[in-house]
Amino acid sequence: MRILVFNAGSSSLKLGVYDAAGPDDTTQLFKGSFERFRNGACDYRFQTPDGTDDRGSAPQADVAAAIAAVPQALERHGITGIRAVAHRIAHGGDLFSGPALLDDETLKRIETLTPLAPLHNPPALQGVRLAQSVWPDLPQFGVFDTAFHLTQPARATTMAVPQSWREAGLRRYGFHGTSHKYVAERAAQALGVALRGLRLISIHLGNGASICAVHRGQSLDSTMGLTPLEGLVMGTRPGDLDPGAHGFIARRLGLSLQEIEAALYAESGLKGLTGSSDMRDVEDRAAAGDMAAQQAINIYAYRARKYLGAYAAAMGGLDAVVFTGGIGENSASMRRRICDGLEFLGLLLNHDLNQAVRLEGNAAPQIQALESRVSVLVTETAEQLQIAREVAANLRAAPRRAPQPIPVAVSGRHVHLSAEAVTALFGEGYALTPGKPLRQPGNWAAQERVTIEGPKGRIERVAILGPLRGRTQIEVSRTDSFALGIDAPVRDSGQLAGTPTVRLIGPAGHLDSDGLIVAARHIHTNPEDAQALGLADGQYMDVQLGDGGARGLTFTRVLVRVQKGGFTEMHIDTDEANAAGIGPDCAGEVVPGVAAHPVSAGD
Ligand code: ADP
Repeated sequence: MRILVFNAGSSSLKLGVYDAAGPDDTTQLFKGSFERFRNGACDYRFQTPDGTDDRGSAPQADVAAAIAAVPQALERHGITGIRAVAHRIAHGGDLFSGPALLDDETLKRIETLTPLAPLHNPPALQGVRLAQSVWPDLPQFGVFDTAFHLTQPARATTMAVPQSWREAGLRRYGFHGTSHKYVAERAAQALGVALRGLRLISIHLGNGASICAVHRGQSLDSTMGLTPLEGLVMGTRPGDLDPGAHGFIARRLGLSLQEIEAALYAESGLKGLTGSSDMRDVEDRAAAGDMAAQQAINIYAYRARKYLGAYAAAMGGLDAVVFTGGIGENSASMRRRICDGLEFLGLLLNHDLNQAVRLEGNAAPQIQALESRVSVLVTETAEQLQIAREVAANLRAAPRRAPQPIPVAVSGRHVHLSAEAVTALFGEGYALTPGKPLRQPGNWAAQERVTIEGPKGRIERVAILGPLRGRTQIEVSRTDSFALGIDAPVRDSGQLAGTPTVRLIGPAGHLDSDGLIVAARHIHTNPEDAQALGLADGQYMDVQLGDGGARGLTFTRVLVRVQKGGFTEMHIDTDEANAAGIGPDCAGEVVPGVAAHPVSAGD
């Protein structure tokens, strides 16, 4: 299946054609660019895998004219049979967690996001409209830089500002999501482990730069926030800046808000520190003894190292780091500076391996020392390829079906106990008394109850669900976690590594056990129902609850678990049920089509 991918900016058009033969088999057939538009002309370059490198000057005066010239360029290089057009769009707000089919309605929704990305979204949308007129018969998809980050918890995305500002849309989103997702999956693949098992930090250092904490496959936090200005030092952007700086500079230098914003996008970062936004230049000057360039390199590396440490703390540990982007891929000295001094995290580079990195053919070499506990990898990012992959997966997904109701069960707080826990809480040789059977076959609620105690409070008469498990798991709501005074992470059942400890109290004693979680919402089903509903094990779906009524809600990222004999039912907790305003006997409907995105092959 051939996908044409566009990345339309205000001053350049980049494109690629990919053949997505299967979920793990996507190859590039064509790469093109039109840039340096001036006086009714531009530079073009077209490359194909057989070594063709066709470049020169073309008569296109702007990006719009360049898009119109693409069919002819493709024809000239023998590229036919395009099945869909995909567009990279910077900002999807909190509206898009996967590729979106760009119909009129969706385009209108994307337009409402323009104030969040005034420089980036309009050229992409203009590209979409032009492409629609050039290829009216092909489906057009948008893939958003923000989508991967929609899993970030509120504690990472919420800004501590007045409520009216938050209501106006002020929150952190994160960008470079397509790149972080791709390199995280590539790193896991190179390490031969499932991304779901890794606490990974992805470091994308290009002209724009950001770091992402990828916790067990999901974005937990990233250095870019509301706009691509926050976080790391970049080519022309400053990264983190005291919010007081704006007022200070306005008063001191008499600059307007627009002038300040323009300087933060285009005159800051490496350019502000050295006069050049290009790291190769800066490194050359530093090597020649230029003090400003040397200092800029130190500031750049220090900021990145600081975030590496911060994200290791945010994830409660670190298993792997992956470098990408022009600087991350090519500058061994910058990789070394960023990693220096992180031995306390178990991260140690092998300097020869770091120096010898070659990235031909999709390589992802490891550069850590033998004694390093943390793996460090380098790989080329491939955002367009990732976009093609996601769009192809979307097109391959089961044809849309009429929505079918899925019964919803609201889980109150409960615990699953191990045999050791039963002994500690109820005494040696005690067996729990099975009470009410649950709808999942073989599961029951015990007649006994336990108390959970945290630093802030205790919750009594908590249900115990059987049968016993290998590990104790304590499932509470977010509200309960405040009552207990412990920040419980949202986890799938059984994913208990690094979860907080809480005290369980029974009639015969107490036990301090880890395993405190807020259960991630999920759908239980069996192979037959899964097929009828168009669901697959491991897929994440969006599910609409509450009828679209006064408090109706669409729950995103609902994990599908298919088990032989499973009873089809969606499980949410009491907070979620209250938020959706649902009562007993509620059913949800899987939102068909574009919002469903399968867990990637790396998982
Ligand atoms: P973009 O974010 O625009 O896609 P890139 O990922 O291509 O940009 O990164 C561009 C940056 O990479 C520039 O600062 C460039 O100087 C830097 N870079 C490229 N090659 C090297 C190198 N060999 N050593 C140091 N920096 C490099």
